[in-house]
Amino acid sequence: MSKIKLATVWLDGCSGCHMSLLDIDEHLALVAQKADIVYGPLVDAQEFPEGVDVTLIEGAIANQDDLKLAQTIRRRSRMVVALGDCAVTGNVPAMRNSIPVKQLLDRVYVQGVTTSPMIPTDGVPALLKRAVPVHEVVSVDLHVPGCPPSAAAILHVVSELLEGRKPDVASKTKFG
Ligand code: SF4
Repeated sequence: MSKIKLATVWLDGCSGCHMSLLDIDEHLALVAQKADIVYGPLVDAQEFPEGVDVTLIEGAIANQDDLKLAQTIRRRSRMVVALGDCAVTGNVPAMRNSIPVKQLLDRVYVQGVTTSPMIPTDGVPALLKRAVPVHEVVSVDLHVPGCPPSAAAILHVVSELLEGRKPDVASKTKFG
């Protein structure tokens, strides 16, 4: 039987959700028996591949690169999972949303900076007006709250998806 193609993606998050994924410890070996991890911080793929079965997205959509990648992920993934509160609600990245982008960048990169104050533009994707949860830009099949979701919850979700079943997320997770 061919293995399931699993991708994980780190957008505007702190990597805590990926750390929690790694906390499933020895169960990673069981996941690897059933799934090929084809994209994400855990592997070295440069481009998001076609024909992915399940993609776990950590983080909010905060800039143009996040937006483009989320749209590509949606086109190329059978199932998209928003993993963690940043992906589900915007959470920490969305705390900047009440401040206009220009004012925010001025405050961080210009005001009070004594050496070469300058807003970086080279190779830096433009920020969106607001950091938003994944479902505001593409459809999401499953929301897994938590900051981060516990390793046990992630293991439950991934194990059930790999078996082709719908995980019982509500009983395993909570916001925050
Ligand atoms: S949900 Fe929490 S742990 Fe996950 S990326 Fe956001 S801040 Fe980090």
